[in-house]
Amino acid sequence: MPDTNNKVVCPDCQAEIKGEKLSVGDILECSECGTEVEILSIDPLKYQELIEEK
Ligand SMILES: [Zn+2]
Repeated sequence: MPDTNNKVVCPDCQAEIKGEKLSVGDILECSECGTEVEILSIDPLKYQELIEEK
């Protein structure tokens, strides 16, 4: 994944998810589809879709 900037893209709908200050462990919610993404690492930026148990 060639992401070197601080841009999180929704793994579900590819919409950009904007966060003011990202930090490890943050949970960002996609404003388009509601998918939640957990920040795993800042440099390099890594994140993963958070699967909620129902
Ligand atoms: Zn989305």
